Amino acid sequence: MPLSRLNSQRLFRQQCYVGGKWLDARDGKTISVDNPATGEVIGSIPSLSAEETDSVIDIAQTAFEQWRSKTALERSDLLMRWYQLMLEHKEDIATLMTLEQGKPMTESRAEVGYAASFIRWYAEEAPRMYGETIPGAKPGQHIVVTRQPAGVAAAITPWNFPAAMITRKAGAALAAGCSFIVKPSESTPFTALAMAELAHEAGIPPGVFNVITGASKIIGKQLTGSPIVRKFSFTGSTGVGSELMAQSAEHIQKVSLELGGNAPFIVFDDADLERAVEGAMVCKFRNTGQTCVCANRILVQASVHEKFVSLLAKAMGDLKLGDGFEEGVSQSALINHAAVEKVQRHYQDAMDKGATHVYGITPDKAQGNFVNPVLITDVTTDMQLCHEETFGPLAAIIKFDTEAEAIKIANGTPFGLAAYFYSRDIHRCWRVADALEAGIIGMNEGAISNPMAPFGGVKASGLGREGSRHGLEEYTELKYICMGAE
Ligand code: ADP
Repeated sequence: MPLSRLNSQRLFRQQCYVGGKWLDARDGKTISVDNPATGEVIGSIPSLSAEETDSVIDIAQTAFEQWRSKTALERSDLLMRWYQLMLEHKEDIATLMTLEQGKPMTESRAEVGYAASFIRWYAEEAPRMYGETIPGAKPGQHIVVTRQPAGVAAAITPWNFPAAMITRKAGAALAAGCSFIVKPSESTPFTALAMAELAHEAGIPPGVFNVITGASKIIGKQLTGSPIVRKFSFTGSTGVGSELMAQSAEHIQKVSLELGGNAPFIVFDDADLERAVEGAMVCKFRNTGQTCVCANRILVQASVHEKFVSLLAKAMGDLKLGDGFEEGVSQSALINHAAVEKVQRHYQDAMDKGATHVYGITPDKAQGNFVNPVLITDVTTDMQLCHEETFGPLAAIIKFDTEAEAIKIANGTPFGLAAYFYSRDIHRCWRVADALEAGIIGMNEGAISNPMAPFGGVKASGLGREGSRHGLEEYTELKYICMGAE
């Protein structure tokens, strides 16, 4: 059992972390958590009630008053310690992640490093939460603008990046002086709880970072319906995001939403094809296709179509599907059966509407939650996969003739998170980057996630940014002080 591999057994927690203590639901209710690769039960987590969630909010409110009064450097030091502990325990956190999420250990280790990098980034940003001074409107008047922490911040996070989707919110919140409550996905709570143990060991004061578990609808309602929670941040599907945004309207919470995408990946005829294939592989198959910035629609210009498809099929031949704990595996189990069915549905719909199967074992032959990487061409915009994220290892190629046509197809979706393109023509590069309706552009680059850049979408892909100094600003309120003349 992989749990026995943990060097520090204390990192496997099956209770919520609230106010610096570990707790169960008062009525003893729990939810069990499975390993998506084997179907085995890993453990269970408490299912908190609405009233218990309200008490957590009160605890976070008390902690907020103390946390905000620390100096930025004190907060920074504690975050830096948390960052170091995450790196020291990388192997254990990665093990828990692979166990509950399924991703290959190499990717889990990389995610822990990536997740920790947000804590470091915001430890460094904390002392730089600058304000400004502005010339007054009258002689002798002074205008000073300060940034203050928003208050208690709450978040609901998804299962595809069980650590990083928390740290990019929590790092910014804690740096700004907010206290923080997160409800991780019920599929991947153990990574979050391990990070809570490390936050505790780092000396983050009780009540400043809290992890709660339970039925998402109940907890979501309390967090978004609370007048005490002043900032709410969600990463997940557009449908749920829109529901939560409506709920948070009651008390006009500040809201950040990082929702679905349907990323176009455009390969122009002047692209470096080898690099474009490399980029497509990283961007399509990371996390077995389960990222919101995955290339969902690969658009290839007609004159390089044949060559690109054959290079991509060849590269896909090196992918190895298996249990995330197996050495050398690059593709692993999808999160659950519904995810498998979605890939099967998108594949079948495309084939029914005229797509061509080029490479891979067809998704209907999936075993358990394991779906083989598959490549199809002759994809057209009437197919389901052009309207919804596939979230699986299906590479779908659309052939196009002109730049204008590619941009029209790329923008022909309600989503606008990431968009990628490959070209060596400098003028085309700027033209296309300007024309694409997306919050993130990968220009000759397939890996665009890092702590120093503002990550986020436009249109139905969301609101607000995570990472960079802009991510910190999301957890602050501007206060303008007008000092009258003598
Ligand atoms: P995904 O496709 O990534 O599972 P979801 O939007 O369903 O996307 O889930 C993302 C997060 O939102 C998870 O933590 C999940 O528990 C939570 N969630 C799902 N439905 C609701 C809801 N109605 N209210 C609040 N949270 C929800």
